[in-house]
Amino acid sequence: MATEQKQDYYDVLGVPRTASPDDIKKAFRRLAMQYHPDRNNEASAEARFKQVNEANEVLSDPEKRGMYDRFGHAATQGGADGFARGFDGFGFGGLGDIFDAFFGGQQGRGGQRGPMRGADLRRAMTITFEEAVFGTEKEFEIQTAELCSVCNGLRAEPGTEPERCPTCNGSGELRRTQQSIFGQFVNVAMCDRCRGEGRIVGTPCKNCRGTGREKKKRKLSVKIPAGVDAGAQMRLTGEGEIGANAGPRGNLYLQLNVKQHEIFRRDEDDLLFELDLNFAQVALGDEIDVPTIDGEPQQLRIPAGTQTGELFVVRGKGVPHLRATGRGDMIVRANVVTPKGLSKEQKDLLKQLAASMGSDVTPQEDRGLMGKIKDALG
Ligand SMILES: [Zn+2]
Ligand SMILES: [Zn+2]
Repeated sequence: MATEQKQDYYDVLGVPRTASPDDIKKAFRRLAMQYHPDRNNEASAEARFKQVNEANEVLSDPEKRGMYDRFGHAATQGGADGFARGFDGFGFGGLGDIFDAFFGGQQGRGGQRGPMRGADLRRAMTITFEEAVFGTEKEFEIQTAELCSVCNGLRAEPGTEPERCPTCNGSGELRRTQQSIFGQFVNVAMCDRCRGEGRIVGTPCKNCRGTGREKKKRKLSVKIPAGVDAGAQMRLTGEGEIGANAGPRGNLYLQLNVKQHEIFRRDEDDLLFELDLNFAQVALGDEIDVPTIDGEPQQLRIPAGTQTGELFVVRGKGVPHLRATGRGDMIVRANVVTPKGLSKEQKDLLKQLAASMGSDVTPQEDRGLMGKIKDALG
C-alpha cells in the first residue's frame, strides 16, 4: 500500500487534529457500527471498516498518535519506531473496542453475567383526608423477592459448590475465529449453557429451587409529607425486589389514594366548605362559628344581604403547601336554605314580612315526601 494513497487518519474518523481521546473514541464507535460488515452490505463497507479500525488503533494510543502527528503515515510503515505491526487485520485491542461499541460500553461482552438490578414494585395506599393534609407516618407490609436465606443467593445447595462450565471453561463466552477477506475476525458470543456466568449449579438449593431468591414479607414505614394529594406517587428508593445474582434492589412506588372528607372538599391547596344559612341569617347578617380542618372552630362574619354562592375566605386554614411554606385557604360558600316545616307562629311572622315587602302571598301546603313521589310518577 503506497503511503501517499492512504487517507489521513483524522479524516477517516472525521475528527479535527485537536480531538480529545473521548471524541476519537466516540467517532470510532459510531463509524465501526456504521461500516461493520455484519450490518452494512455495501461493497465499500469492509474497506471502510478496516480503515476506521486502523485509524483508531493509531489515534487512540497517545504514543502512536504522537508519532503519527509528527511523521504521518511514514510512522506506520515499520522502521525505527516499529509500531507498524498488526495493521493487517485487527490488533487485539481494536477488537475489544469494537465489541464494546456493539454492546454498549461497560455492559460489555458479559451479557447476563453478574448482578442484575431487581424489579420495581408498585403498591397503592389509602390514607385519610386529614393524613393527606397534615402528613403522617405509615407502616405497611409488602411481599418481595429477597435473598434466599438458605443459600444466601448462591443458588447451590449448602455444602455443594457450583462447577466451572465445561462448555466455555469458566469464561462465560464462546470465541469463534472466522476468516474474512480483510483478515481474521473473532466472533465472541455469550455461552448459552451457563448464560455467561462461567459456572453451573449442579445441585440447586432446594429452598429457592436454584433461583437464589425467595418471596418474603417485609415491614416498611413511610413518611407521607403534609400536603400530598390523591394520585401522588412516592418513590421508596431501593425498597423493590432484590436482583438476580444478588443484584441491587429496584424501587418501590407507592400510589396514594385519599378518602373523601365528610364536610370538606379540596381544590389544590384550598379547602372548600359549604355553609348552610337560613333566610334570617343572610338577611340580617350573623356571626357564625365554622369548622376548620385543624379542629378549632373559626368565627366568620356573614354580612347582611348575603346571597347564595357568595364566597368567604378564611386565610391560612387550607392545606399546607407540599413544596413551600405556608398553607392554602379555607373557602366558605354561603348556601341559603329555604325553611321547611314551619310552625304556625313562624308562618304568621313570614306573612307579616311578606305584607311589609309588598307581596300578597297565597300560602300553599308543603308537598312533603309523598307529594314529591306523586310528582315524580306524573
Ligand atoms: Zn437458595
Ligand atoms: Zn459456559
